[in-house]
Amino acid sequence: VKSVRVDKLLGSMGYGSRTEIARLGKVGGIVLDGVDLTDVSKRIAVTADLTERMLIDGRPLDPPAGLVLILNKPLGMTCSHKEDGALVYDVLPERWRRRDPAISTIGRLDKETSGLLLLTDDGDLLHRVISPKRHVAKVYRATLARPLVGTEGPLFEAGGLVLEGEDKPLAPASLEVISPTEARLTVTEGRYHMVRRMFAAVGNHVEALHRERVGGLALPDDLAPGEWRLATQGEIDSLF
Ligand code: URA
Repeated sequence: VKSVRVDKLLGSMGYGSRTEIARLGKVGGIVLDGVDLTDVSKRIAVTADLTERMLIDGRPLDPPAGLVLILNKPLGMTCSHKEDGALVYDVLPERWRRRDPAISTIGRLDKETSGLLLLTDDGDLLHRVISPKRHVAKVYRATLARPLVGTEGPLFEAGGLVLEGEDKPLAPASLEVISPTEARLTVTEGRYHMVRRMFAAVGNHVEALHRERVGGLALPDDLAPGEWRLATQGEIDSLF
């Protein structure tokens, strides 16, 4: 377990500058195990239970680095830190947007795609989920403009399809027909506009797209669009 100075820890979690945190400590705003912590140069061990043992201004400390968030992404939000308009990061508390390491989305969903979006500050975990070599399934439900003709499934499953403007063939993907104009597509890659472009390649058009699952983690039923929560360790493990 890493040990770190209190001012450095709180600074990296967005609680303020060193000076601000020193002042907070002086006025009794930092409590550890029921005792005022006034010397913010003190080193403490960063354990998972710190959120239960430390109070900042009377509130439990935010989760330390190494978190995963589950968001039910609504339509109309962009997975970007800097574009104009509504961003997925706007759903997080202001302070969480000042964290270092920063919280980023694990891959991206289009502005007009809804459903399961994971965020993390753990770069290794992020890469394990998005790397095509790991074959982590991403499951989408697509609503189509035209009825399926029946050849799409075998074509996607064979692999080797080349998307417009690319030269690297796609890995095999699997298609489950839900209705003539609805299908569930499972892919293991994360190319730009991938699902929309796959259906475009077979002469169809995606009208609505929703991500249902990543690995073994399904979008929880209790999260309404725009709602998010921390993933449990069990949920994180189920990704792989
Ligand atoms: N494929 C797409 O086309 N869009 C998404 O948002 C995700 C996968």
